[in-house]
Amino acid sequence: MNANFIGGRWVQGAAARKDINPSDTEDVVGEYAHADLEHVRAAISAASEAQREWAYSGIQARADGLEFIGNELLARKQELGTLLSREEGKTLSEGIGEVARSGHTFKFFAAEALRTSGEKLPSIRPQIEVEITREPVGVVGLITPWNFPVAIPAWKIAAALAYANSVIFKPADLVPASAWALSEIISRSGLPPGVFNLVMGPGRIVGSAIAESADVAAISFTGSVETGSQLLARAAARRARVQLEMGGKNPLIVLDDANLEVAVNCATQGAYFSTGQRCTASSRLIVEKGIHDRFAQRLCEVLAALRVGHALAAETQIGPVVDAEQLERNFNYIRIGKEEGARLVFGGTPLRKETHGFYMSPALFMDATPRMRIAQEEIFGPVACVIPADNYEHALAIANDTPFGLSAGLCTTSLKHATHFKRHIQSGMAMVNVPTAGVDYHVPFGGTKGSSYGPREQSRYAAEFYTTIKTAYTSS
Ligand code: ADP
Repeated sequence: MNANFIGGRWVQGAAARKDINPSDTEDVVGEYAHADLEHVRAAISAASEAQREWAYSGIQARADGLEFIGNELLARKQELGTLLSREEGKTLSEGIGEVARSGHTFKFFAAEALRTSGEKLPSIRPQIEVEITREPVGVVGLITPWNFPVAIPAWKIAAALAYANSVIFKPADLVPASAWALSEIISRSGLPPGVFNLVMGPGRIVGSAIAESADVAAISFTGSVETGSQLLARAAARRARVQLEMGGKNPLIVLDDANLEVAVNCATQGAYFSTGQRCTASSRLIVEKGIHDRFAQRLCEVLAALRVGHALAAETQIGPVVDAEQLERNFNYIRIGKEEGARLVFGGTPLRKETHGFYMSPALFMDATPRMRIAQEEIFGPVACVIPADNYEHALAIANDTPFGLSAGLCTTSLKHATHFKRHIQSGMAMVNVPTAGVDYHVPFGGTKGSSYGPREQSRYAAEFYTTIKTAYTSS
């Protein structure tokens, strides 16, 4: 059984979780220890203790540790990417790509640690000068989802450590193997004991205990809207700092003047790759009248040629759904879409493969209307709907008619519409002729409206969450 990492030691849990491969449910990836409340308390106390010195650690020590982690992730991307794909079900190339990107994230933040900067200003009073510096927040709780088992932990952990915070990392219960492998590397990176802690287990026990601890100064969470909202209410009650990344119902607008191949490629990648299990997936395809039929026909042709299968098979383009519960949820939305009057023109059925896994064919609905549940609620599977639009203005109004605001796309060759879209779309990320999903690691990530809360993740903007500001006055 692979253990939790608390105060610089590997600590066995009382219970364990069997980690199952969604491509082949007979394949057990491993057994991972569940932390109990005692373990969570011990991790928080070790982090608090370590934080006293870590807060004043040198930038070189932090940069070296992060560089070590980044280099090892890059060197082992094939092996760890395979583990990730086996555990989560995304394709091997997506798994390897995710590990490589995580390596780059750590290396980016290694350099950011060196660039920690402040400001010096004259005071309005004579002989006084003012310094503005960034200080760590303290012990941070990082609660992550299953869909990016390495990349999301990486962008939270790397930023937290770069700015000298101590970490309690609580991965999603479905993906302990990737979390453990990442933590094992971190355990050898030279960080002082207690600076980084791993506690695995169910969110309602382990996650709740982190969110409610008075000694955890900040919580960064990625996951569902329901859990994020509950967590915010509880953490805000004790005035903890909170950052949330939650759902999306991301639109992709296709205008008549779009390049058809570009548009179909953006829709295919954005809606179906990674089995649609991305908060940036484009699940609403809002298509102008003139291109509508050609777009639908071409998209169906591409969908028919997509190979769904075992995540580790070289030819697979779309892996299985992550587990039985999510598969059930997807089929439930297929039923809802039909009942609402949308037309299922492709897929949405279970698939049988050589191994028993959670396979389904990518699903496409036509003739959806903006207020249908399939056009409003996040499904988190390979399910998209086409909503016809009269013109650009109509399409933009539909795109903004959602409680979410994470990512949004536009396919067009018109500079006028592209420029207008970037200013008027209500989302944190705007994509013109590129898929809504798939982002760079060195620029901010995050949304508006119901998708996000608090400062952005990734890039140097991450400092806004992981540091607090001190203003110092000195009279000479
Ligand atoms: P999803 O399962 O779609 O990723 P969740 O919001 O259920 O979304 O889970 C995201 C993360 O939050 C996971 O690590 C999960 O274990 C954790 N979590 C779930 N419930 C709670 C809770 N009540 N308090 C804190 N964390 C939780």
